[in-house]
Amino acid sequence: MDLERVNALLQGWGEPAYRGRQAYEAATRGLAAEWGDVTALPVSLRRRLQSEAPLRELSAAETQVSRDGTVKVRFETADGFPIEAVAMRHRNRRTVCVSSQSGCPLACTFCATGSMGLGRNLTAGEIAEQVLVLASMLRDRSERVNNVVMMGMGEPFLNYDAVLGACRLLNDPAGFGLGARQMAISTAGWVPGIERLAAEPIQIKLALSLHAPNDALRTELMPVTKRFPLARLMAACRAYRVATRRRIFVEYLMLDGVNDADGLAIELADLLGTEGFHVNLIAYNPTGSPYRASPPDRVAAFAAVLAAHGVSASYRRSHGQDIDAACGQLAVRGAAELRRRRSRARRSVAGSRSPASR
Ligand code: SAH
Repeated sequence: MDLERVNALLQGWGEPAYRGRQAYEAATRGLAAEWGDVTALPVSLRRRLQSEAPLRELSAAETQVSRDGTVKVRFETADGFPIEAVAMRHRNRRTVCVSSQSGCPLACTFCATGSMGLGRNLTAGEIAEQVLVLASMLRDRSERVNNVVMMGMGEPFLNYDAVLGACRLLNDPAGFGLGARQMAISTAGWVPGIERLAAEPIQIKLALSLHAPNDALRTELMPVTKRFPLARLMAACRAYRVATRRRIFVEYLMLDGVNDADGLAIELADLLGTEGFHVNLIAYNPTGSPYRASPPDRVAAFAAVLAAHGVSASYRRSHGQDIDAACGQLAVRGAAELRRRRSRARRSVAGSRSPASR
């Protein structure tokens, strides 16, 4: 999926410029799975590309389909890191949720991925490829991708350039052609990323995982708050809104007895004000942590307090729970793989270092 490299290779082999365009279109708009399928290219060229720059870098290790139509694919990178991507259905629209990192270093206490630690950042190609693979699976069912969200494993703003690179690739009207407004990046509150996104010409949506309206509670749930306290985070959000005139989607996970009291709804309303934010209350999906989802009447009461204070809010239904595809459930099983992979890497580093250190 490194299509710039493919183009450079084709040029280096003395191929005419239109071959590069044909290859690019087949890989993006055409959703080709391998060069062998790209019949617009001569057979010899297909073979050469196949051996020197295979089209797909990720292997799909496992695919699951849930009762509600959610599709989850567990991928492995060429060097063995696990990642997951999910396609959900809302009415007749399809949202694809992709990973930006294998694992995540931010260690939010309620999140399965957070308990894995970081494997590595994904490349722009690996991020875009998750979308293209799911798009081709959906195409087989006569469905198409309407939205892409960077809400899978990882913190997208810790891998800013690759994430934006993937968004630009997916956005390109000569290729996959997904509208910028059909893409969203979700952050745990990594301020430098919010500041950089505010200055981008591309109109991608921003979602902020807030989950608590004060530093003390938020630090308990999301250690990243120590690095970027709410005052700094909210200042960055205000600057983003001034610069882009776009509103920010706030995600607020409803955790029973932890962050769901009426008093906290009032604090949240004070923090956000009545303009510029839309709050999505999210059902907590069980991941083996001690947290439980708030009961429905508590969620309704919390939402009513927000509404009474003029804050726009809605409740996000959970998809794909039966296949562990819902928010925060990605790669619970991948965690074991990642641990194995890391200890192998440590052993080989130790092995290669020991002669020098002796
Ligand atoms: N790191 C980014 C994007 C990945 S997490 C972020 O924090 O926004 C995507 C969303 O899933 C976040 O809002 C996260 O808080 C939420 N989430 C994590 N674990 C969850 C769980 N068990 N149930 C429901 N949502 C969860």
